[in-house]
Formats: sequence, C-alpha cells, structure tokens
Amino acid sequence: MNKLQFEEKKSVLFIFIDGLGIGERSVNNPFARIADTEPLAHFVGEKSEIPFGGIMVPTDPRLKVEGRPQSASGQTTILTGINAPLLLGHHKQGFPNQTLRDLISENSIFLQLKKANITENVFANAYTPQFFAETPRWKSATTCAVEAAELSFRKLPDLLGGKALFHDFTNADLIKRGFEAPLYSAARAAEILAGIAANHRFTLYEHFITDQIGHKQDFAKAEIHLPQLAEFIRKTIELVDLENTTVILTSDHGNIEDLSVRNHTLNDVPTIIWGAEKHFAAERIKDLTDITPTILQILTR
Ligand SMILES: [Zn+2]
Repeated sequence: MNKLQFEEKKSVLFIFIDGLGIGERSVNNPFARIADTEPLAHFVGEKSEIPFGGIMVPTDPRLKVEGRPQSASGQTTILTGINAPLLLGHHKQGFPNQTLRDLISENSIFLQLKKANITENVFANAYTPQFFAETPRWKSATTCAVEAAELSFRKLPDLLGGKALFHDFTNADLIKRGFEAPLYSAARAAEILAGIAANHRFTLYEHFITDQIGHKQDFAKAEIHLPQLAEFIRKTIELVDLENTTVILTSDHGNIEDLSVRNHTLNDVPTIIWGAEKHFAAERIKDLTDITPTILQILTR
C-alpha cells in the first residue's frame, strides 16, 4: 500500500510502552529468550539492530530521585517535560495526585502544542463506556492531559470506524469483557495506527500490558505478547511516511526486562526514534524530561 502522509507537514507519532527497560542479558530477561522481539529488545552494553533505520537512545527514568521509578510521576514527566519526581521529592506510583494533575493540566504536550497553533492532535486510545461511568474515576496521566487540553476522547464507535485503537491493540481483552469488536492481527492494528498518524500532526498511543506482565512475572504471557507487540510496532513503522513523520517510542520505567522481581527496575529505558528528525531527536533526549520539548521542537522548527 502507499505510504500514508499528512499533507507533507511534519508530524510525530509517539508510542508509549509502559514498563520497558534495557536489561542485562540473563535468564530472567524474556528478551534474551524470546525470538522476534525487535525493535523492543535492548541489552545493557550491547548495540541493537533496529529495523527501518531506527536509533535507540538509553534514557534515564530515575531523574535524580532515590527509589524505583514509578508510573504517575514518570508519565507526568514524559507528558510535560517537567521533572515530576524531583518536584514531589519521590517517585509516585499508579495514578497522578493533585500536584501531578495540576502540572499536567497546565503543561501537557497537548496544551503546549495547542498554544503553538498545532491543533491536529490525538490520543489514539479508545475508552470504554464503563470508564466514563465509574466513580470515582481513576485518571491516568494521559487521561488528565487529554481532558485539560479539551481534546476529545476516542470511544468504541471510533474504534469500530478504524479511528482509534484499544490499549490491547488486538481487541482480545475487549472481546473477553463482552464488547463487540473485531479481533485484529498485529498487522491490521498497525494499519489503523499508521492511518491515524497520517491524519494528525501529533498522535499518542499508549500500551501497558508490558507493565502488567512484569508485575505478574508472567513468562508464558511474555512469550505470546512480546513478539505480537514487536510485530505491531514494525508494521506501523513500515506504513508510516518516514520522510515527514518522526516516530518516537519510549517508556516510563523498566519492568518486563527482569521477571525475577515484581517491582519496576532501576534500568534505563530505550527511546527508539525513526524517520524525518531522528538525528535531531536522538541528540536531545537524555532523560524523560527531554521527550516533550523535543517533540515540540520537531513540530515547530
Ligand atoms: Zn507498574
């Protein structure tokens, strides 16, 4: 199929994978034991082969704060460019507290892009009706960012129309929960994500099954999931117009790369960059505070 593109304008596809670190090559590291996991497999001190000319930059999620990096503060940092754990004095687990929600409300990448007059932005994940019915509603960092920037949430009709993807991009989890949705192959899901990216300047897609597998130390699930996730990423990159689009993939902390522990790891995370501005981005990204400013610069320079 033809490469998809957004009117020759620069665009960014940002894929956020929860709980993906750069680990030691050991029996506890599923990437050392499972085949076909490129471009997700990266090992400490080893140079990795990345398909489609991608560059991997080891990225610091510890952010000069003691303890294991956590999701709420890590994701807030990724989405704002502000060192949230340093501001809080600790790494914050789970969902953002009021301080983090305020940071996101005032500084999220969606808001920063809007202020720079870049308005064709989307959070590509589909939400279920249950999500909006729940009280109290536990809001992830991304949900806070979408709400505060007054972007619309993608819902199940969007998913059925090929305009959104579920966090479990195959829809298997949705179907198991009783929703009517087609079961997607990794390749079909990739077509949809690449299609969404082709119609927006900035597209964010979030995936967190990797972190769940890490917490459950579930090698059997990793064996099924990681090759499928890797194929989804490869097929997406293959379909994106890399002449105009920069694809950035990163994580908030390590986890799945060491199944000997339930906890997050202290490892660096891999930021993998493909396409138009890959060298520009690779030079600028050192830790998680660099993601948002780099995306902003790519889209405004
Ligand atoms: Zn976690």
